[in-house]
Amino acid sequence: MELSTKLVHFDAAPGDPYRPTSTPIYQTATFEQSSALGFGQYDYSRSGNPTRTVLEDQLARLESGQRAFAFCSGMAALSTVANVLSHGETVIVGSDLYGGTYRLLSKIVARRGIKVVTVDLCDLEEVEKVLTRETRVRLLLLETPTNPLQRIVDLRRISGLCRKAGAMLAVDNTMLSPYFQRPLELGADCVIHSATKSLSGHADLTAGAVITNNDKLSEAIAFLQNAEGNGLAPFESWLLLRGMKTLGARLERQQKTALRLARYLLGHPKIKAVYYPGLKGHTGHGLHRSQATGDGCLISFETGDRALSQRIVEETRLFTIAVSFGSIASTISLPCKMSHASIPAETRLERALPEDLTRISVGLEDGTDLIADLDRVLHLRPQSSGSKRMSKITV
Ligand SMILES: *Cc1c(COP(=O)(O)O)cnc(C)c1O
Repeated sequence: MELSTKLVHFDAAPGDPYRPTSTPIYQTATFEQSSALGFGQYDYSRSGNPTRTVLEDQLARLESGQRAFAFCSGMAALSTVANVLSHGETVIVGSDLYGGTYRLLSKIVARRGIKVVTVDLCDLEEVEKVLTRETRVRLLLLETPTNPLQRIVDLRRISGLCRKAGAMLAVDNTMLSPYFQRPLELGADCVIHSATKSLSGHADLTAGAVITNNDKLSEAIAFLQNAEGNGLAPFESWLLLRGMKTLGARLERQQKTALRLARYLLGHPKIKAVYYPGLKGHTGHGLHRSQATGDGCLISFETGDRALSQRIVEETRLFTIAVSFGSIASTISLPCKMSHASIPAETRLERALPEDLTRISVGLEDGTDLIADLDRVLHLRPQSSGSKRMSKITV
C-alpha cells in the first residue's frame, strides 16, 4: 500500500462495536479491572490509552517500524531515547543539530556522565575514525537534511558504520516526516519526531514520537514512557491523528510552492545563498534524492546583511514571525536569534550558522502571493520602519 493510502486507511477504533470512522477520544485516567488481580489491556492512561495506541500503531506503520511511542513533545521523545544511555557510555551527534537537542545533550545528558561527541557527519572518514577511537559508543544521533543549513547525511553509509561499531543509529526525521523519508528502511534503529511540526501540520499541539524495530530498545522506551509519565494525552493523540491524515496532501502542495520560492530567491541579486535540497545546485542534492522522495517545506537563505534579513523577517506580511515549521501557514525566522538561540554564539560560529541566516517554512498559501510579498520587501529601501504588526492578518 502506498503511504498516501496508509495515511487515510487504518483501523480508527480497534474492537469498538459501533465502528466509528474517527478514533474516539478515551478521555479517562483509569480503566475498570475485572477483579483485584485481573488486569485488562488498559488500566491507567499514563501506562496506555486506546486513543494513544491507535496513534502509535499508525506512526509505526508509516515509518515501517514495529513499535512506536507518542510523547508530549519532541524533546520528551529525545530525552527518553537519551535516558536509555548509561553512565560511561558515549553518544555521537552531528554538528548541525536542533538547538533544543544540543541543549539537552550538553546541559543534561553530559551531566549524567555520558560523553557527548560532536562530529561533522558529512565527513564519513571522520565518522569512522571517531567510531573507532571512542569507547562504549552506544548511540549516534543525526538529522538529515539538517536544520537550518540543510546539509545531507548519507543514511545508508552511516548506518553501515554504526552497525560495524555496534552502535545504535537514531534519526530525527522531523524535517521530512515519513511521507518523504523512512530511515528505518535504510538501516536506522530508531526514528524520532517532533510531531509538533509537519506530522500535526496545524501548529495546534506539541507532541513527539519514537519509532523502532529494535526489540530491546522498544522494551526500554516502553518502560521509560510509563515510568517517567511523559506519554501523549488522549486529546492530543486524537488531534495528531487528525492532522496526520492530510500529511501527504499538505506536503505535496507545500514542497511544490517551496521549490518555486527557492528558485525565486536563488535568482534574486540581494540573496547570497539559498539552502533547499530540491535545488539541483544544492550540495548533496543527488544523495538526498537517493534516500528521500521529497524535499520538504523549509528553505533557508543568506542575504550577507543581518539588517536586511531582519527586515525581510519583519516586513513580510504573509509570513508570521514564529519558531517551529511545517504548519499550514507560512512562518519566517532568524534561527540564530530564535530556534537555535540555545546554542552558544561561539558554537554557532563553529558550525557556520551565520547571523543573517533566514528560514522560511512554506505553508498552503498561493505561491504567487508569497513571492509577491518577498519581492515587495526586497525592493524596500533600508530606512523604511521596522514596525511589524503583531497580527499580519490584515494584508
Ligand atoms: C522542534 C524540533 C524538536 C523539538 O520538538 P518539540 O516538539 O518542540 O519538543 C526536535 N528536533 C527537531 C529537528 C525539531 O525541529
